[in-house]
Amino acid sequence: MSLSEEIASFRVNLARTLSCLYTIHQASEDLLESSAEEISLKLAKLQDLLSEVSDCHQSSVNYLVDIDQQWGSGQFSKSSKVNRSNHQSAALKSNKKKKIDELQSLVDYREKMGFPVAGSEEDNATVTKLQIGDKTYFGVNSSRNPNRRKITLRVNFISRTHAEADVFQQAFDAGVRSDYVKLVVDRDPCRACGLRGGIKGMARQLGVKTLEIISPSGRQIIQIT
Ligand SMILES: [Zn+2]
Repeated sequence: MSLSEEIASFRVNLARTLSCLYTIHQASEDLLESSAEEISLKLAKLQDLLSEVSDCHQSSVNYLVDIDQQWGSGQFSKSSKVNRSNHQSAALKSNKKKKIDELQSLVDYREKMGFPVAGSEEDNATVTKLQIGDKTYFGVNSSRNPNRRKITLRVNFISRTHAEADVFQQAFDAGVRSDYVKLVVDRDPCRACGLRGGIKGMARQLGVKTLEIISPSGRQIIQIT
């Protein structure tokens, strides 16, 4: 990485921090009009976001140390009390563990379905889990799906056959709606589902405003406007 790339990554990380903080700021406002049950749910969401901020903060510190060590004199990382190795925050560790726990439920589901291990050579399945309100749905891509569903959600023709569509459709058919959902996928979303907005579009049709996606490469929170 060049210095300019390192600075760019640092700034992307800052933007992520800001967007999390912004969400927290917004979300805390509508606590006022929430029922006791909703308040507890929302607090859990806020806590997740706060631990994401704390991860981001730690990454920012790591960038500074990196920059100093590669392009600076190394004085900053020596003199300041920052130390990468002993500064792995508790939040970061617990978040990593959480991601692994989330993905573990998909490993169990694959076993039950008799699918190969995710990402292995013979694997052509994708398994997802959608948590919406107090409901949980598991989904599979159409070519491996023993209960293929008719996709009535509006979505591009590529995502339509993917596990993400299967799981959103189940919630949609059951009439479940929520402004917050968590989607766990055991393969990083493809371009059609991810970058080009397949997942986001389906989530919007279920009334979702905050979408959390956990996949092998990490965790992201997306605001749907
Ligand atoms: Zn996809």
